[in-house]
Amino acid sequence: IKNIAVLTSGGDAPGMNAAIRAVVRACAYYNVKCTGIYRGYQGMIENDMVEMGPRTVKNIVNRGGTILKSARSTDFRTPEGRKQAYENLLANEVDALVVIGGDGSFKGGLALTKEFNFPIIGIPGTIDNDIAGTSHTIGFDSALNTVVDAIDKIRDTANSHNRLFFVEVMGRDAGHIALNAGIGAGAEEILIPEENIGFEKLIDSLERSRNSGKSSSIVVVTEGDSIGKTVFELGEQVKNTMPNYDVRVSVLGHLQRGGSPSCFDRVLASRFGVKAVESLLAGEHSMMVGLLNDKVVLSPIEKAVKSAGNGVDEELIRISDIVSI
Ligand code: ATP
Repeated sequence: IKNIAVLTSGGDAPGMNAAIRAVVRACAYYNVKCTGIYRGYQGMIENDMVEMGPRTVKNIVNRGGTILKSARSTDFRTPEGRKQAYENLLANEVDALVVIGGDGSFKGGLALTKEFNFPIIGIPGTIDNDIAGTSHTIGFDSALNTVVDAIDKIRDTANSHNRLFFVEVMGRDAGHIALNAGIGAGAEEILIPEENIGFEKLIDSLERSRNSGKSSSIVVVTEGDSIGKTVFELGEQVKNTMPNYDVRVSVLGHLQRGGSPSCFDRVLASRFGVKAVESLLAGEHSMMVGLLNDKVVLSPIEKAVKSAGNGVDEELIRISDIVSI
């Protein structure tokens, strides 16, 4: 292998830049050419590539987003699009690829491998932490810190006015952000897709909170999982059921994706980037790097793509019930 390409794809996440930097510099360390592909698979199809040396990635370890940009490419979902992309890789003398992204991005990479026998290694990068084969994805820890910081601020105003706040956080089909940030920020209740507690139980819990002397409450809600309603409908329904509560709703939205990556994510991204390059050079392919028991390990990408994600820690659900009493 003489030339390794790297791209970021799907939703961006803090720490992707640190991963790009690690891939580029590991290539330099091992005297292999490195090619950066802009805008994920769309840039591959449009031949938007550039050679990257170790100085092209200076001053990015601390920056959120991705200097290579990210995109969702519908063209890459077609065989014609992938053929064009493959031809561009050949024209640029690229012979292996590191894909930084979520499971959709890995599916795209696998399609390339299956059709053209092209070696790829995946680096899990998404704030949602919903990928099997790793306890942490790049960006998850940074997003948690952002969310906890935001909820701390909401708590100040909730306390001053005896309010009940519903705070919606990202996570798509996974409650990792809600559960961890909820515990970290001291939420009264945490609503996650993995455990539908139902409306009645939520009201019971809020009433218990109030009767136990709590003057304000924070409920963290995973996006798309407000017990089958939007978070605004949920807030409205609770307001109608508990008229003595001053109910407010706050949707944190895209600010959760931004900002400077945490030290944890920078170190994780550095470890993943180096491992990805070393694995390709050792002849591995169709694998994803991941963190298990604090060791960087490889697992088949197929597994990450086919499994339903990375289940939430049941023990954390139990802990959250105890510490919110
Ligand atoms: P996030 O978790 O942040 O959404 P993701 O990597 O899962 O990230 P997707 O939008 O699902 O994001 O996928 C990124 C890109 O990967 C798609 O825009 C598409 O170009 C490519 N891709 C996804 N699934 C496939 C597939 N089955 N075949 C070919 N390409 C795919």
